[in-house]
Amino acid sequence: MIYLDNAATTKVFNSAVKAAEAAMLTNYFNPNATYKSAVRANNELERARNTIAAAVGANSDELIFTSGATEANNWVFNCGIKNHKGNIVITAGEHSSVYEAAILLKSRGKDVRIAPLKFDGAVNTEALLQLVDENTALVSVIHVSNETGAVNPVKQIAAAVRSKSPNALIHSDGVQAIIKLGVPINALGVDYYTASAHKIGAPKGIGFLYIRRGLNISPFIVGGGQERGLRSGTQNTPYIAAFAAAVQECADYDHNRISTLRDELRDYLTNERGFTEIGGGKNSGYILCLCAPNRKAEILQNIVHDKGVIIGKGAACSGSKRGNRVLSAIGVKSDEIERCIRLSLFVDTTRDDALTAAKIIADACN
Ligand code: PMP
Repeated sequence: MIYLDNAATTKVFNSAVKAAEAAMLTNYFNPNATYKSAVRANNELERARNTIAAAVGANSDELIFTSGATEANNWVFNCGIKNHKGNIVITAGEHSSVYEAAILLKSRGKDVRIAPLKFDGAVNTEALLQLVDENTALVSVIHVSNETGAVNPVKQIAAAVRSKSPNALIHSDGVQAIIKLGVPINALGVDYYTASAHKIGAPKGIGFLYIRRGLNISPFIVGGGQERGLRSGTQNTPYIAAFAAAVQECADYDHNRISTLRDELRDYLTNERGFTEIGGGKNSGYILCLCAPNRKAEILQNIVHDKGVIIGKGAACSGSKRGNRVLSAIGVKSDEIERCIRLSLFVDTTRDDALTAAKIIADACN
């Protein structure tokens, strides 16, 4: 199988499997217990946190492990807003774990404002800034769109928001950005940043919330007081070890090779085979969203699956629903949305595989 749905999830690196195995079979002790073996497990946990923090450009004490990005995003919206009377500004391009969390608050009476997207898939920064005022409590801007790969200028937006509304907190969902984009979190000037390990070669069910040093957030999950009292529950040491191994392995790859390959796929499918690129502005090198010339995405997906190629049709989390909220928001018409496919690459995608897959996808449209 040639797998081109890496924005949905990635195959786990062998190095990550080995790290998880060691934490399960050898160093399996509860890191919060007090005997020497447990202290060793705790040391391993902290070593993993340091490794991940160094790779993503954060201080270790700024990362709190969670069950993934859905939990981390929900945490911010439920507990991370100091000014409870203030409004919240999100973009129309947010992942459902941000969007639905905001909509839930709206249904409870919160003033939630949604900034529009531009045709290239990025947020309309000017329109977003118009929604921000001195009462804004939180601004949330996805770093890399999981649908189109569009990269939002989070650093510039954070600076502009701060000058307009110094008390607003700024959050960014960095799930499709960490390591792949190579931008250190600390350079963005955000207060919160969320990540998930399964997009970079580690297992599903582990991620973190970055909480800028000095910021106080109340816990979303209470209990035994693990993670400095901020996120209770025995830490998932095998998956945290795997996460650390994955960031190390992933960081060593040449990310420019992937963007060159993405552009090559785009050029072939658009210039030679009648596909249209969706978005097309500043883009992650890992995601390519295309509208097929004639076939519906679901049919195309099934045809190419039978020929050994796996492709996406929008976010897996919303893939079963009709339509596509994010593509609609960038102005793609509903009949085109039905023909939109998402090809997403990872560091293990070879050029041969990607080009073979592109030919199979294009032929399936004939
Ligand atoms: N945000 C984005 C941008 C995503 O792509 C995903 C994964 N589909 C999530 C959040 C949710 O992450 P998790 O699967 O770890 O809950």
